Amino acid sequence: MEAVSNSCDFRGIVAVSSKSMHKPHPFQTDDVRLRPIHEKVLARQRLTTDDALALYRTGDILAVGWMANTVRERMHGDRTYFNVNRHLNPTNVCVAACRLCAFGRKKDSSGAYTMALEEAFETAASGYSEAVTEFHIVGGLHPDLPFQYFLDLISGLKQRFPQVHLKAFTMVEVAYLAKRAKLSIGQTLEQLKNAGVDSLPGGGAEIFADRVRHIICDHKIDGDQWLETAKLAHEMGLKSNATMLYGHVENDEDRVDHLLKLRALQDQTGGFQTFIPLAFHPDNTPLQHLPKTTGMTDIRQIAVSRLVLDNFPHIKAYWQMMTAKIAQIALRFGADDIDGTVIEEKIYHDAGATTPQGMRREDLMRLIREAGREPVERDTLYRPVIRTETSVTVAV
Ligand code: SF4
Repeated sequence: MEAVSNSCDFRGIVAVSSKSMHKPHPFQTDDVRLRPIHEKVLARQRLTTDDALALYRTGDILAVGWMANTVRERMHGDRTYFNVNRHLNPTNVCVAACRLCAFGRKKDSSGAYTMALEEAFETAASGYSEAVTEFHIVGGLHPDLPFQYFLDLISGLKQRFPQVHLKAFTMVEVAYLAKRAKLSIGQTLEQLKNAGVDSLPGGGAEIFADRVRHIICDHKIDGDQWLETAKLAHEMGLKSNATMLYGHVENDEDRVDHLLKLRALQDQTGGFQTFIPLAFHPDNTPLQHLPKTTGMTDIRQIAVSRLVLDNFPHIKAYWQMMTAKIAQIALRFGADDIDGTVIEEKIYHDAGATTPQGMRREDLMRLIREAGREPVERDTLYRPVIRTETSVTVAV
């Protein structure tokens, strides 16, 4: 067991949080559209569609960031969450052929792979240490693998790694498994939960608007089905995350529509933990003629998300996607989570990401500290993980 500091102690959090209670810089902007939004933010009022559009369209990114940071510090002080996790992608074989994707392969294409169960267990075990608290498990929509394979995968992992949280299968995968097994979504979720799935990741949401979905991921479930699947999962007690893929063919209205649909569902279920804006990486996809997002777009997306999604506890700056350097800046623009150590990320790297495929715990903590924030190691459900020389415990 590695030696670790005990900076995740709750008393530490309270003490450090108070650092953020310093008198904030005065709000300044030349954009008159932002003044009423600023008033609403201070009064904790909900932002409208027009407010969100103004946040996307203003040139005053610092004013947007100021407001997002105000909300972020009101909710979390300086606390910035990360976890020690491992990604597991059991197959990249996929029937969907989304134009946004560089990961999925037809089953007889070069580079296609499907792990036998034992291979998946060995992969999970490679690089594993007691420090790992989460397996993040997503993959392609395989046309031949039976539902039982996925149930056996989950129950086998649970048996071998009982203390590890299994965050597995996007809403898109759940809907596909249900279709193949000829079960309802509810029955499918129930069986996955009984096998050992603890929560669901947030992928596959992309952009909910039909016009965009037809271009980037025509064969996936539509936005309403994604939301309905999430609703059923939440009603069953399974928490999930939610994502939005931006920076391709969507416009500001599509982004706002996406955020407001998530906010409306969260009002009903309260089941979302974290919103994760994902920048589109075009390399090796059929949309590779599109330019990559810029740092300014990434930062703005974090800030707008924090301001519009007033009922989401957490906004994540996913360092693998936006680079560690931009993610660090995002911690001052509304983000309170930077994701995890991520052993062996595949999906973004197939799409040309140049970030490392994992980061050491100490390096993540340094990034957070140098942004003037306090690192808090969490488990998947945001319970602080407390480490000593000889043990790891989760505060409940
Ligand atoms: S994004 Fe997902 S569903 Fe679409 S092709 Fe890639 S792996 Fe398949």
